[in-house]
Amino acid sequence: MEHDHFSNETKYCTRCADYVRFLRSMETSYCVECGAKVKLFSAKDHRSFIQGLKEDKEKRQKKAGNTKRAS
Ligand SMILES: [Zn+2]
Repeated sequence: MEHDHFSNETKYCTRCADYVRFLRSMETSYCVECGAKVKLFSAKDHRSFIQGLKEDKEKRQKKAGNTKRAS
Protein backbone atom coordinates (compact mmCIF):
# COMPACT_ATOMS: atom_id res chain seq x y z
CA MET A 1 0.00 0.00 0.00
CA GLU A 2 1.31 3.37 -0.99
CA HIS A 3 0.71 6.26 1.31
CA ASP A 4 1.99 9.27 -0.55
CA HIS A 5 0.38 12.36 -2.04
CA PHE A 6 0.13 10.86 -5.47
CA SER A 7 -2.92 9.17 -6.82
CA ASN A 8 -2.89 6.24 -9.18
CA GLU A 9 -5.71 7.88 -11.07
CA THR A 10 -4.90 10.02 -14.07
CA LYS A 11 -6.29 13.26 -15.38
CA TYR A 12 -5.71 15.14 -18.60
CA CYS A 13 -2.92 17.70 -18.71
CA THR A 14 -3.28 20.11 -21.60
CA ARG A 15 0.39 21.08 -21.40
CA CYS A 16 1.62 17.49 -21.62
CA ALA A 17 -1.29 16.65 -23.96
CA ASP A 18 -1.68 13.36 -22.16
CA TYR A 19 -3.32 11.70 -19.21
CA VAL A 20 -0.96 12.07 -16.29
CA ARG A 21 -0.78 11.34 -12.61
CA PHE A 22 -1.68 14.38 -10.60
CA LEU A 23 -1.30 16.05 -7.25
CA ARG A 24 -4.63 16.64 -5.61
CA SER A 25 -5.34 19.83 -3.73
CA MET A 26 -8.59 21.14 -2.28
CA GLU A 27 -10.17 22.39 -5.50
CA THR A 28 -7.69 21.77 -8.25
CA SER A 29 -5.42 18.98 -9.36
CA TYR A 30 -1.95 19.53 -10.75
CA CYS A 31 0.11 17.52 -13.20
CA VAL A 32 3.02 15.77 -11.49
CA GLU A 33 5.11 16.23 -14.65
CA CYS A 34 4.81 19.97 -15.30
CA GLY A 35 2.68 21.41 -12.49
CA ALA A 36 -0.09 22.64 -14.79
CA LYS A 37 -3.70 22.25 -13.75
CA VAL A 38 -5.21 19.04 -15.02
CA LYS A 39 -8.73 18.28 -16.16
CA LEU A 40 -10.80 15.20 -15.68
CA PHE A 41 -11.06 14.73 -19.44
CA SER A 42 -9.39 16.03 -22.56
CA ALA A 43 -11.58 18.41 -24.57
CA LYS A 44 -12.36 15.62 -27.02
CA ASP A 45 -13.21 13.11 -24.32
CA HIS A 46 -15.24 15.75 -22.50
CA ARG A 47 -17.35 16.33 -25.59
CA SER A 48 -18.04 12.63 -25.99
CA PHE A 49 -18.83 12.41 -22.29
CA ILE A 50 -21.31 15.30 -22.53
CA GLN A 51 -22.71 13.82 -25.73
CA GLY A 52 -23.20 10.51 -23.95
CA LEU A 53 -25.08 12.25 -21.14
CA LYS A 54 -27.25 14.09 -23.66
CA GLU A 55 -28.14 10.88 -25.48
CA ASP A 56 -28.98 9.20 -22.20
CA LYS A 57 -31.21 12.11 -21.27
CA GLU A 58 -32.95 12.11 -24.65
CA LYS A 59 -33.50 8.37 -24.37
CA ARG A 60 -34.99 8.80 -20.94
CA GLN A 61 -37.19 11.70 -22.08
CA LYS A 62 -38.37 9.71 -25.06
CA LYS A 63 -39.19 6.81 -22.81
CA ALA A 64 -41.03 9.11 -20.39
CA GLY A 65 -42.93 10.66 -23.29
CA ASN A 66 -44.02 7.26 -24.54
CA THR A 67 -45.18 6.23 -21.11
CA LYS A 68 -47.19 9.42 -20.76
CA ARG A 69 -48.80 8.94 -24.16
CA ALA A 70 -49.64 5.31 -23.36
CA SER A 71 -51.36 6.08 -20.09
ZN1 LIG B 1 1.69 18.24 -17.48
